[in-house]
Amino acid sequence: MEQFKTARDAAHALRPDMPVYCFRPQVLRADALTFKSAFPGKTAYAVKTNGEDMVLRELAKAGIDCFDVASPAEFAAARAVAPDAELFYTHPVKAQSDIRLALETYRIRILAVDHEDEVAKILRTVRGLDLDPEEITLLVRLASRGHAAYELSKKFGAAPGHAAELVQRIAGIGFRVGLCFHVGSQVEDTDTYERALASAAWVRSRSGVPIELLDIGGGFPAPYGHDPRRKAPPHPDTGELVAEVVREASEWGFDDVPMVAEPGRVIAARSFSLIVRVLLKKGKRLYINDGIWASLSDSWTGKITLPARLLPDPARRKRTGDPANVVPFKVCGATCDSVDILSRPFFLPETVNTGDWIEIGHIGAYSLALRTRFNGFYPDTFVEVTTPFEAGGPAESFASVETMAD
Ligand SMILES: *Cc1c(COP(=O)(O)O)cnc(C)c1O
Repeated sequence: MEQFKTARDAAHALRPDMPVYCFRPQVLRADALTFKSAFPGKTAYAVKTNGEDMVLRELAKAGIDCFDVASPAEFAAARAVAPDAELFYTHPVKAQSDIRLALETYRIRILAVDHEDEVAKILRTVRGLDLDPEEITLLVRLASRGHAAYELSKKFGAAPGHAAELVQRIAGIGFRVGLCFHVGSQVEDTDTYERALASAAWVRSRSGVPIELLDIGGGFPAPYGHDPRRKAPPHPDTGELVAEVVREASEWGFDDVPMVAEPGRVIAARSFSLIVRVLLKKGKRLYINDGIWASLSDSWTGKITLPARLLPDPARRKRTGDPANVVPFKVCGATCDSVDILSRPFFLPETVNTGDWIEIGHIGAYSLALRTRFNGFYPDTFVEVTTPFEAGGPAESFASVETMAD
């Protein structure tokens, strides 16, 4: 991979017309180690956040030896970089054939469930393979409610009373029992974790069954930008937030239970930025070469405020306007689809024009992973950049103006 000091250097050298992902392996390693050293249990990176081989490889080098996986492709991706990695199969609803593959081929021994029929599916495969249920830990996924930017808890999870029954049933069969939850993504308050821990403690005492593992899921927030017209909201420090959640787990009586966390965003977000090019400026609209069907899928650009920085094309010598005057531009994506317009404006110097580049920071989580080939546009160009996004000069503008609390 070609290496540059900054995204600006890459833009000037390559003058790219295609979107270019700037990978920062040092930042990825640092953020992985920050989490891993703050969390006393096992750190299982959530592969769905960004499952690129270069990312998994770097994480394995950084000592991440547990991965949270949900599909055969993710089993394979994790084992390709770390053959001895421990895999946590935390999808509560699995195909029968995938359960078999997990147990037989990948020797996965920790799986999540939130319904008795899923337990029956797993048991069928366990019997078919003549495995001892005692070798396998089933994590009962608890329903949780909270204030995540993305509420993933509505879809999965057993209500407390149901979870206690499931725990008893699983223990009765002879499986080992754990509890898990996933409170959503970009969760900035620890109350949400605390509510989930309270629920886990209730299920544990109600069921009266020994709990051998507590998996607190992901959801830990990554730093993003903020509305330039408002005061920056304080971003919780990862180490402090993790310590607080661990303290709460101990207060709820989980001191003696081994723990797992499944961070995704907090590890991957800062490790990539994206260089996009302005293909046309039309008044207050910018047409760029990426969009909601590629790296900027609208589901999250509407909620997360991405930092962005204008990289003016030095070949354009005549500019009109004042570079210090930062104004909102409506951003239209690369495809011909009329919904391919970002829901929030980019705030950029009014001097921005056709041919300029924009570096969008902190897009390592849920951007590359959500790319489609729609309309034939599929960004897939990578360079390595050695300077963190924040150190590459001030981000004068922001790709979205909504704050996380909205
Ligand atoms: C998506 C997911 C994660 C990772 O979530 P982040 O918000 O990126 O930390 C962890 N666990 C489960 C079960 C998930 O579905």
